[in-house]
Amino acid sequence: MNTPKVLQIVQRCEALFEDLHFNAVQQWKAAQPGRKAIGYMPVYVPRELIHAAGMLPVGILGGGDALEVIQGDAYYQSYICRIPRSTIELGLTGRLDCLDGMLFPSICDVIRNLSGMWQMLFKDKYVRYLDVPQNYQDSVGGTFYVQEMQVLREDLGRLAGREISDADLNRSIAVYNDNRAAVRELYAYRAAKPWQAPTSEVYLLLRAGMVLPVEEHTALVREYLAAAELLQRPKRDNARVVINGSFCEQPPLALIKSIEMAGCYVVDDDLLLVTRWLLDEVPADGDPLRELSKAFLHHSAATAAKYDLTREEKGVYLLKQVKTRGAEGVIFAAPSFCDPALLERPMLQDVLTRHGVPHTAFKYAENTGQMAPIREQAGTFADSIKLWNAA
Ligand code: SF4
Repeated sequence: MNTPKVLQIVQRCEALFEDLHFNAVQQWKAAQPGRKAIGYMPVYVPRELIHAAGMLPVGILGGGDALEVIQGDAYYQSYICRIPRSTIELGLTGRLDCLDGMLFPSICDVIRNLSGMWQMLFKDKYVRYLDVPQNYQDSVGGTFYVQEMQVLREDLGRLAGREISDADLNRSIAVYNDNRAAVRELYAYRAAKPWQAPTSEVYLLLRAGMVLPVEEHTALVREYLAAAELLQRPKRDNARVVINGSFCEQPPLALIKSIEMAGCYVVDDDLLLVTRWLLDEVPADGDPLRELSKAFLHHSAATAAKYDLTREEKGVYLLKQVKTRGAEGVIFAAPSFCDPALLERPMLQDVLTRHGVPHTAFKYAENTGQMAPIREQAGTFADSIKLWNAA
């Protein structure tokens, strides 16, 4: 019997996900001499600028559970998260040689240190720590961010050997608007029919977007949506949950599957947040850097990785996710030693408790191997939600 189309797409995405030698990136570069690829760490960089320079943005999310970290451990103390160590390991073992540069967005001190480490270790590559605004007024934080992006634009222009024009940038904004729209459709579809689009598949589909050209990824997401509808799958009486705290170091795929197998439908999450950081369409006919800045300041996802004391009360965004997706509970799943996620967690838990939203919490590392405790905890959580709702 032929493999259904939707599963063929998932298999392709899984192969891309498992390839820690980034063959897809190497092939893209080899197809045309002179092409360049720029890596970026989660959770957000304005990928439009890289695209407008004719380069391939490549999302680097550590080594997952398939990479043995040997050299990387020597660079960091043991009591921090794993993503910087496995990223160093990827670099030192030559797996990132296909990249012509790396961008380290301002997420936390660990990433800031990693950026410095990268500058020392890979002197022949372009490396930039990309600061983002901590003030949300257009005239203050906005002006700062436009200047940051302008520096990046000039740097990338020098690497590309040509200036990046406003028209180039506006074209790229339109291309990414389309990708964001496709991802929004995917998230809406999963929330409406989570049994038809399991999160383990949605996640792989988004991971493919870390290495594929954005145009190809947008087409793949829409192909998946069409194919997912054709394969009818059993609908279960699962608990609908939102996952929070997984915006940087990613959980192993087995962990996502374990949560689902334990009786949860994930109807929203903050995995691979770069794909949904900007919430609305960005105008593609104005001053491009200004528009990207305004989108960051006024229409972007709330996360612990973003310093924003003024815009919204803590937990409002998460509560909105719960409400609009019809979720019955929240699973806080954060990487061990992740300062931003773990510092914010008690505040979010407090908000949920006050609003009567059930929640549970655990920690993971990208190479966590023992899934039984997580399955048990998620299963108990799902059962208790069903019991409370029935009572
Ligand atoms: S997992 Fe958390 S602590 Fe580690 S680099 Fe990412 S945001 Fe920073």
